[in-house]
Amino acid sequence: MSETVVKLTDVWKVFGERADEAMVAIKSEGLTKPEVLERFGCVVGVQAATFEVARGEIFCIMGLSGSGKSTLVRHVNRLIEPTAGSIEILGRDVGSMSASDLRTVRATQIGMVFQHMALMPHRSVRDNVAYPLEIRGVPKSKRWAVSDHALELVNLIGYEDRLPKELSGGMQQRVGIARALASDPEILLMDEPFSALDPLIRMQLQDQFKALVAQLKKTTLFITHDLDEAIRIGHRIAIMKDGVIVQIGTPEDIVMNPSDDYVREFVQGISKLKLVKAHSIMEPLASYSGSLDGAPRADEGADLDQLIDHAVGTDLPVVITEAGSDVGIVTKPRLLRGIQGGKE
Ligand code: ADP
Ligand code: MG
Repeated sequence: MSETVVKLTDVWKVFGERADEAMVAIKSEGLTKPEVLERFGCVVGVQAATFEVARGEIFCIMGLSGSGKSTLVRHVNRLIEPTAGSIEILGRDVGSMSASDLRTVRATQIGMVFQHMALMPHRSVRDNVAYPLEIRGVPKSKRWAVSDHALELVNLIGYEDRLPKELSGGMQQRVGIARALASDPEILLMDEPFSALDPLIRMQLQDQFKALVAQLKKTTLFITHDLDEAIRIGHRIAIMKDGVIVQIGTPEDIVMNPSDDYVREFVQGISKLKLVKAHSIMEPLASYSGSLDGAPRADEGADLDQLIDHAVGTDLPVVITEAGSDVGIVTKPRLLRGIQGGKE
């Protein structure tokens, strides 16, 4: 069983002076977001958010601009107080922490990275990374050692003495990640960290970041408005719309079983080739009446791309195996529908 690091239970955020009053009416009368705006002049930023993130997991929060992603994630370090609901970090209720406990938790257990890192222009890369440690009074030799180690993790060795303006946008974001990692936090909160970068640089950083998190076992809440990015790096994805989490699932779940038209629209443009696995499109062995002699075999974890390679050389279905035994078949029609995303 993996350990829960971040847990949100029925978290609501209503913005506006009459938020508490609005919250009561929402709970008792089930008001919708537009009704709350009309009756109380309040904006519902997040509605009934409940989820848990396990140690080492990258949990992506994806949705259009204004859907409540930043509001949601800022509850984790209590930059925002919930109107209702609770937030726990490693079993501790964030809402009931004292100011000094909260400061300690923010400084030691949570690293945050934003779209624009706002590095300090007149400080070297090393001093930028070491800055949070400096604030905490860590002596220079210690903080430089920590900073250099963090810069090594993001492949920026050799740039320690440069100024931020001498670095490309992608490198500056990596400095931001190093700064977030410097205190060796349990949790990373990433709010669209790669959204301002060029596509190619972005993809490189996504892959590097995923490898880094796997190596360091950081628990990550990663915000993006780009489903491709969420799929590339997320173990699970929460899709937000108008403050509501409309679906939570693995990338494959989301792509194969979008919960509504909003999710379906996002999913339409996504290539299924590397994402959809044999186990999710196979049919029972018994559904094939002919002989399977000489049929190609592939593991249940094989993706569509690999299944196509097996399927092109034969008229027979591909037999799917699990731990060496035959468990199902994938016929050509099934494979083609799988590429379309499981359409019947
Ligand atoms: P996202 O990060 O998905 O783009 P946000 O969390 O920034 O979305 O915003 C969600 C909603 O909450 C938006 O309608 C936004 O206008 C509103 N909102 C965010 N912050 C405030 C605030 N401080 N006061 C009033 N409304 C806010
Ligand atoms: Mg945002």
